[in-house]
Amino acid sequence: MTGFFETRIEFLKGVGPAKSALLNKELNIFTYADLIQHYPFRYEDRTKFYKISELKDGMPFVQIKGFLTFLETAGYGRKKRLIARIKDDTGELELVWFKGLQWVQKKLQPGVEYVAFGKPVIYGHGKLNMAHPELDIVTPQHDTSGYLQPVYSTTEKLKSKFLDSRTLMKLQAVLLEKAVNHIHETLPYAVLQSFKLIPKKEAMIQIHFPDNHQMLQKALFRLKFEELFYIQLKLLQMKVSRMEKYKGMVFSKTNLITEFYNKHLLFELTCAQKKVIREIYRDMRSGKQMNRLLQGDVGSGKTIVAFLCMLLAINGGAQAAMMAPTETLAIQHFNGLKPLALKMGLHMGLLTGSTKTSERKIIHQMLLDGNLHILTGTHALLEDVVRFKNLGLAVIDEQHRFGVAQRSKLWQKNSNYYPHMLVMTATPIPRTLAMTLYGDLDVSVIDEMPAGRKPVKTLHRYDSMRLKVFGFMKEEIRKGSQIYVVYPLIEESEKSDLKDLMDGYESICRAFPGIPVSIVHGKMKPDAKDYEMQRFIKGETKIMVATTVIEVGVDVSNAAVMVIENAERFGLAQLHQLRGRVGRGFRQSWCILMTDYKLSKDARIRIETMIRTTDGFDIADVDLKLRGPGDLMGTQQSGVLDLLLADLGKDAVILQTARDAAILLLEKDPQLSSPENSPIRKHIDSLKKTVVNWSRIS
Ligand code: ADP
Ligand code: MG
Repeated sequence: MTGFFETRIEFLKGVGPAKSALLNKELNIFTYADLIQHYPFRYEDRTKFYKISELKDGMPFVQIKGFLTFLETAGYGRKKRLIARIKDDTGELELVWFKGLQWVQKKLQPGVEYVAFGKPVIYGHGKLNMAHPELDIVTPQHDTSGYLQPVYSTTEKLKSKFLDSRTLMKLQAVLLEKAVNHIHETLPYAVLQSFKLIPKKEAMIQIHFPDNHQMLQKALFRLKFEELFYIQLKLLQMKVSRMEKYKGMVFSKTNLITEFYNKHLLFELTCAQKKVIREIYRDMRSGKQMNRLLQGDVGSGKTIVAFLCMLLAINGGAQAAMMAPTETLAIQHFNGLKPLALKMGLHMGLLTGSTKTSERKIIHQMLLDGNLHILTGTHALLEDVVRFKNLGLAVIDEQHRFGVAQRSKLWQKNSNYYPHMLVMTATPIPRTLAMTLYGDLDVSVIDEMPAGRKPVKTLHRYDSMRLKVFGFMKEEIRKGSQIYVVYPLIEESEKSDLKDLMDGYESICRAFPGIPVSIVHGKMKPDAKDYEMQRFIKGETKIMVATTVIEVGVDVSNAAVMVIENAERFGLAQLHQLRGRVGRGFRQSWCILMTDYKLSKDARIRIETMIRTTDGFDIADVDLKLRGPGDLMGTQQSGVLDLLLADLGKDAVILQTARDAAILLLEKDPQLSSPENSPIRKHIDSLKKTVVNWSRIS
């Protein structure tokens, strides 16, 4: 868009400083561009006129056409109202107003033909009427095909200052008339052709004032396509330029891996694990810096993959680091990998917030000397004092807990080359979201579980059956299992939640005399938390009563039962994560979802989904449909998902089409330098000036 669209909104006819200030504040509309992109959120169907005799109680908003035959106020005081009648060749209908009587009365003239738009409702003695209809004098336009009337979102405050949807519609009309000659095509001709897209100018007119349903669909498709196309183009360009700019260390020696594989690996890798290791290996010897996302459901065995890749870096004379979001997880990685490292004669360190200063000093020195091969830890790894001799691979576990800034801090830990970066997540992300959030990363997926795993059996039990559930738990403990009992604690500060947890803990202690029980929640000091966690991991306690702090990554293969209290209060992703804590050993595992009898529709769908499937991607798709994309990813990353029109839950096909188009285009013209692609170059320049905040991506 050109300078025209940067014009401040107060200069639009009919706006002025006072209204402009309101539009700024209430709707974030500052410029012509902002207003014209304040698209309708729905349309009222004015394509059909009903006859008065056709009207029925309970119809949606409808429009009729007729002459005003009567106009009078009735009643007194608070009961005062304005009554009118409108007549067509089939009958007569009463119209009524309870508010703004004077204003309406002044505007209306008996004997004139009007179009009335409203909802027919039965009142009193079975007579139909229409309260607060919109009335317009019939114009020639009404005799043609009719139209879809745009409805714009507005606020109570704006409405009270007469900036309602209709006023916004009028402003849009004024603006569009001025704007048409400034709307430039933003997509190359070839793209318009191959995807049958209507021109931008046409789309902008039709989205505000559609001629009919078909044109509205075309306008929507065209604009959603453009929106998604530019996001994909940007992501793909970032990927290409990073590949060109950032050289990566070349790791091609594999004798350490072979040695480990032949002598020390206790199980056979799954085909999926082998496949992703090959993909990572290809990256790490390519000479380009790797930026890869490794997706794999809980329990799919990402840790060992990470370890093998670390061996690759170490084999090439470099060091490796692995960062986890919590101390418990970092300790678990350390304890899990240390024996493997020892077998290979490698030195490993653990660095967290509670590492003692004396130990810290040793670790810092060993890192600098290159004597420490693998460092695991929490975000304590990111501190500036932590310097490596030659960091070759950085692994980030459970990435959704880490922001972009933290990732880039890890990059800086090697001054010659950016280290290769492997980001691991167990949060299944629907494809459409992954394409948008990680569209610039290469993605590997472990889509297979280690052999011999028995799928967790999931049951739904009502609170009233608790005693039976306790009986089942006792039996399982007798067989040697350990058990998690999880309580929701959405806000760790919520007193009633904490009380529920403590009450639950006490009743379990009473019901399981002689059986040691652990408790862990967010209000505890980190030391105390870890101490309790470790007791459970070592098998000293049999039951772990906890909040969702145990959600991510914890691996206790002896734990075979997961009881989730108030399961209706958890989201699907969380339930899936929690269930992933069990089913890691040889035993049959169970997940028991406890709820009240009363359940909302969504809660019922969530519970049913959990019972129906253990496939994380299936679950993620249901979640996306229930919650919508912004909510799904949390606020941290929602910036990327602030789409004006497209909806990642519903527009998967358009997204795929747009991404394919962007890939094709960049393959043919990586620099976008050809004359046909000049609309793209111009549009990207203008986008830089507008709202989209690209720094949040990557
Ligand atoms: P996640 O992908 O959730 O991080 P982990 O790496 O913690 O999963 O692995 C879960 C468990 O499965 C660990 O105990 C690990 O040793 C084991 N495991 C990993 N790969 C295999 C395999 N190929 N065969 C058998 N067990 C495996
Ligand atoms: Mg893990």
